[in-house]
Amino acid sequence: QETMEEKEHIFQSLYPAVAVPNNMTLSEFVLHEAELYAEKVAFVEAVSGKQYTYGQVIRDTRRFAKALRSLGLRKGRVVVVVLPNMAEYAIVALGIMAAGGVFSGANPLAHSSEIRKQAELADAELIVTVASMFEKVSCLGLPVIIVGKYEERVSNAISWEELLKAGDRAGVDNAEDPINQNDLCALPFSSGTTGTTKGVMLTHRNLVANLCSSLFSVGSDMIGKVTTLGLMPFFHIYGIIGICCATLRNKGKVVVMGRFELRTFFNALIVHEVNFAPIVPPIMLELVKNPVVDEFDLKQLKLHAIMTAAAPLAPDLLAAFEKKFPGVQVQEAYGLTEHSCITLTHGDPSKGHGIAKRNSVGFILPNLEMKFIDPDNGRSLPKNTPGEVCVRSQCVMQGYYKNKEETDRTIDANGWLHTGDIGYIDDEGDVYIVDRIKELIKYKGFQVAPAELEAVLLSHPSILDAAVVPLADEEAGEIPAACVVMNPNAKESEKDIMNYVGSNVTSYKKLRVVQFVDSIPKSASGKIMRRFLRDEMVKRMDII
Ligand code: AMP
Repeated sequence: QETMEEKEHIFQSLYPAVAVPNNMTLSEFVLHEAELYAEKVAFVEAVSGKQYTYGQVIRDTRRFAKALRSLGLRKGRVVVVVLPNMAEYAIVALGIMAAGGVFSGANPLAHSSEIRKQAELADAELIVTVASMFEKVSCLGLPVIIVGKYEERVSNAISWEELLKAGDRAGVDNAEDPINQNDLCALPFSSGTTGTTKGVMLTHRNLVANLCSSLFSVGSDMIGKVTTLGLMPFFHIYGIIGICCATLRNKGKVVVMGRFELRTFFNALIVHEVNFAPIVPPIMLELVKNPVVDEFDLKQLKLHAIMTAAAPLAPDLLAAFEKKFPGVQVQEAYGLTEHSCITLTHGDPSKGHGIAKRNSVGFILPNLEMKFIDPDNGRSLPKNTPGEVCVRSQCVMQGYYKNKEETDRTIDANGWLHTGDIGYIDDEGDVYIVDRIKELIKYKGFQVAPAELEAVLLSHPSILDAAVVPLADEEAGEIPAACVVMNPNAKESEKDIMNYVGSNVTSYKKLRVVQFVDSIPKSASGKIMRRFLRDEMVKRMDII
């Protein structure tokens, strides 16, 4: 009799399993034995030159944690951090975690209303920011800690320096409330596969496990020798885990950059002898196309490798980069907030871990399992067959904060995280990401949730219906574009609608294209037919 049970196609990592210590919090893990090299610089700001040694990082992380406890922060309570990339950033994040709190990074470019939403969804108790951004957060009614100098004394603001001094005096530590590896420590925000932004619950265990898996390929000869460019936003998991924590763990140095500007970028690479630069494809495009690059003698670069992640890398761009920067390795990586950071990577081919193929996003990291399922029926597919990428490991988030429905939609009963990306694995274990079925739009690597822009559009009195979809764009990867059904008596133009949305959201979420249509096509179940809409929009643009 034939068995009804189908064979599951589950793919394991090709690499041997790596051990994950089970008795360390994230800060203990990344600063393990850092006292032994206390004099070494951990963070240096590219422009100001301000720096922190490992000794200072340990000292201030402890002082900040103690001060937070004495302010009343308790285990599991959320602190929203609204800071640009700066030398103190990781101290703030690790200090919150070391106090038992939960670090929730917000985009410093976000509008006040967007930060309010994050703070409310996260039940935040405290905000950390800089003086120049105080205005944006002062209306939230929460105590605010201001890092760095500020001129005027503001009623509900607490100065960082005073707070650290208070930390020295405070007798309060968390001895009576010890932190467990399974406690939450981070709540980054992501829109996931559908809807608006949600808090992604990550534990110390999740993040320590992700670092163990992703750092396996760094040979002992590289420990203490990596100087990483800290340009990717630290509020995002790529910045705080993939750059700051990974570099600290390897006893390296992070060269911190607040924003991307090509001349500053090259000066920073040259002056600080950066040998590893994690970036995103739109920055790679600048490096290839912008004539400013020709002002620099590229031979002065000590760059050994760049990593590109967060969005697909076009094969032509890869080829152009390799031509312009021969000798610089390109390590592609794929990851997502819901999986604590990196999931697939090329690693360093010189470490003898095998060479991932060009244009693949790399191999499955150690300790991870992956499958590719048919999105229509959930059946797992054999190799070389594209399907939805699902991953299972100790790095899978605990769920979306206070959102069981979305959690259940994303993590199934067997612990598989459904990524909303389409990919396949080939005969040698290389994985390719070929498409995305989730609603998410990625503008220059930043998340833009269509549902959020649709809500802004629908708040306009002349708009009857609206749908937002991604359109391909060489520079940004994808741009948000909207189809809008206007009230027949409306006077506004497409440009007016673009401006309306632009005044309500942060700059990278702005609509770049608006088209007026008669109706929004929806499926029988009422779902917007995004793919169809996108194709129709492109057709109309081609005609113009
Ligand atoms: P985030 O949570 O903001 O890191 O966004 C994660 C999403 O970015 C993934 O689910 C993918 O859709 C996309 N992504 C990340 N890395 C890559 C990559 N290397 N190639 C293609 N898409 C990527």
